Amino acid sequence: GLDEDIAEESYRETKQISKAINKTLQSLKAVDQSRQEFVSNVSHELKTPITSIRVLADSLMSMDEVPKELYQEFMGDISDEIDRESKIIDDLLTLVRMDKSSAEINITQTNINALVEMILKRLRPIARRRNIELIFESIREVTADIDEVKFSLAVNNLVENAVKYNREDGWVRVTLDADHKFFYIKVSDSGIGIPEEYKERVFERFYRVDKARSRETGGTGLGLAITKSVIFMHHGSIQVESKEDIGTTFTVKIPLMYIPSTGKEKP
Ligand code: ADP
Repeated sequence: GLDEDIAEESYRETKQISKAINKTLQSLKAVDQSRQEFVSNVSHELKTPITSIRVLADSLMSMDEVPKELYQEFMGDISDEIDRESKIIDDLLTLVRMDKSSAEINITQTNINALVEMILKRLRPIARRRNIELIFESIREVTADIDEVKFSLAVNNLVENAVKYNREDGWVRVTLDADHKFFYIKVSDSGIGIPEEYKERVFERFYRVDKARSRETGGTGLGLAITKSVIFMHHGSIQVESKEDIGTTFTVKIPLMYIPSTGKEKP
């Protein structure tokens, strides 16, 4: 009868609501967990240089007389650890600022060819130290709507990585191309490559395939997370292809025209 219909319907409704609540709880839990992980990673990363500084300072202080050379060596190490700590803090602040949904983006029409040339010019001295050739292959002139400061940071990280994770006498090739809607920047290298199973993880904050190598070259593990954030702010995408011991190619695709979001989209 009618009562049964109503009971049946309200039962179905209740079930649907409880399903929706469960789903929301699950996604809140996931967000909370990734936030907790991030905080614990940040604490760990910030503590590492401090611990080294502590050890170095303690051993200097425990000696009655410190030979000048040893003193200078330890002070040099302390200074390096301080630089490292500053770099982590700078990268973290950049990332946190960029991650906010209210993050400001300062779009101007920019000549992308000139922007890439500028980045390569800045990185050339570092590449030269390891005899790595930096090649720019510009297939056409590209003008696009981008945030010049943020976008430079994103491309700089890719090229810097291509140099860092390369071999002596290797090469890095940056290619710029466009169609009627998008422009494409490809950064290829002759470097160590990324094992297939870690390819997607390299965009995670603090993720490194080889911690020791990243540390040696002054990495913080935040570079690619920053790059990805910047590209998403421009409604673009990034892909990676790699072969171990042969090399890696990152491909960035960005719309030529920037269309501001309405603020209604999902984050
Ligand atoms: P890092 O500061 O360690 O360089 P990134 O976020 O820039 O941090 O990169 C994360 C990790 O991805 C690096 O530690 C490295 O293992 C790997 N990686 C990034 N770019 C390359 C590349 N061009 N070739 C090989 N490995 C790379």
